Amino acid sequence: MPEALVESAGVQLVCMRGTAAAPARCVALRGAIGQSVSCAIYEFRPSACREFAPLAAVGRGDEACNDARRRHGLAPLVPAAA
Ligand code: SF4
Repeated sequence: MPEALVESAGVQLVCMRGTAAAPARCVALRGAIGQSVSCAIYEFRPSACREFAPLAAVGRGDEACNDARRRHGLAPLVPAAA
């Protein structure tokens, strides 16, 4: 990960720049939250991002995903009917 994209999160730990702030906004996030967003480094995103809400891309959120959506004033994802 390029040094310009991260900041210290403790001894031997880094996080994506902007994610330790409140409100958090990752330096790699592109677009407008609630409209259309994407990750500028998706193929190289950190492990924490790879493990977060793994089914969100197919419209299936989990509690962590819905917590993040709530923080931005968005409704929770509702599972599609089978
Ligand atoms: S998925 Fe991309 S934009 Fe989202 S927090 Fe991770 S690095 Fe940042």
